[in-house]
Amino acid sequence: TVSADFTTDVLVIGAGQSGLAVGYYLRRAGLNFVLLDDQAAPGGAWPHGWNSLRLFSPADASSLPGWLMPRPSANDSGFPTRDAVIDYLTQYEQRYELPVRRPVRVAAVRRSSSLSGSVGSFVVETDAGTYQARAVVCATGSWRNPIVPQFPGQADFGGVQLHSAQYKQAAPFAGQRVLVVGSGNSGAQVLAEVSQVARTTWVTQEEPRFLPDDVDGRVLFTQATQRYNAQAGAAAAPPATLGHIVMVPPVKEARGRGMLGSVRPFVRFTQTGVVWADGREEAVDAVIWCTGFRPALSFLAGLGVLHPNGRVATAGARATAVPGLWLVGYGTWTGFASATLIGVGRSARAAADEIKAFLEAVMV
Ligand code: FAD
Repeated sequence: TVSADFTTDVLVIGAGQSGLAVGYYLRRAGLNFVLLDDQAAPGGAWPHGWNSLRLFSPADASSLPGWLMPRPSANDSGFPTRDAVIDYLTQYEQRYELPVRRPVRVAAVRRSSSLSGSVGSFVVETDAGTYQARAVVCATGSWRNPIVPQFPGQADFGGVQLHSAQYKQAAPFAGQRVLVVGSGNSGAQVLAEVSQVARTTWVTQEEPRFLPDDVDGRVLFTQATQRYNAQAGAAAAPPATLGHIVMVPPVKEARGRGMLGSVRPFVRFTQTGVVWADGREEAVDAVIWCTGFRPALSFLAGLGVLHPNGRVATAGARATAVPGLWLVGYGTWTGFASATLIGVGRSARAAADEIKAFLEAVMV
């Protein structure tokens, strides 16, 4: 028998947008639940975004279930700022009285058989005691697990290396020679900003793919949903367009300055820079890795369900190998467009419905 400090029916790990959306539906279903989050303040990953970060969709296309994100004031560009998103998530949590405990970091999730109705009971170890729960929902996003590609000589490079997860503003790079690596939206936006003050080169594996100027996040989401629905049942992968670059105003501005050209990757680092594929050496002050993230799920290691790519086998949001375990918000593999504010509600609702049915079955 395991002695736990706390007991709950449903434990949600992570209280960013995904955890809050799950909490909204768990509350509506009348379930007993707790959310744990390792940050000191609300907002999930958003407080770690760079200072100028804005959503690429308007407020009314960026809402969690139940309550529309307030529109920015009329003199604003219409796309909510990072801080507006943090305010929204902070108020959302209060509005629905979601029981978030923070900062609490989850270290490990293990199976336990000591609860009555033992199928799907878990012991969850945290830095603030042990929890026992009948069901666990992972909603930990990915910002804690940035991907940095490895190159020969990297450890000896004397310049600055920074992942977009740590990037805040361009000022520290003023006057420097900077490589921005990565062909996604983060790469394009960081390049746009840093190229205003530094000499930049954009390094991408392939030519970046830009969306038409009039396609913002809302259009993208609507089009992708239509195509996804049309394919549903055919087991086809959803369209890749959510990964293309949205021409937000700073990226358009950088295009106007001729800054969006890109080159293919260098082959190795030197102490002072890099060596390109043609053998040319170049001095570089800083490299900003905009090379993405993996799911932050290391606490599941003991369950033996983590694949080498960092994912878990799921049907929708439900982990297929472990009864009582759900994963919400990690992207299309856990629910179509679930890594967006507008998309996560659907996955959260489905997960809450499944959890309710699961608890009813194990608690008889
Ligand atoms: P997170 O926001 O990362 O929240 C997870 C929480 O869990 C965090 O507080 C984390 O610290 C915590 N946590 C992690 N591990 C543990 C642990 N072991 N124990 C306890 N707590 C833990 N989406 C949109 O909808 N529109 C946009 O315009 C948009 N623009 C974006 C621009 C950029 C540059 C980026 C990077 C993302 C953007 N996104 C956008 C996507 C969206 O912001 C993220 O996918 C979102 O933050 C994911 O929310 P989440 O709740 O799943 O994870």
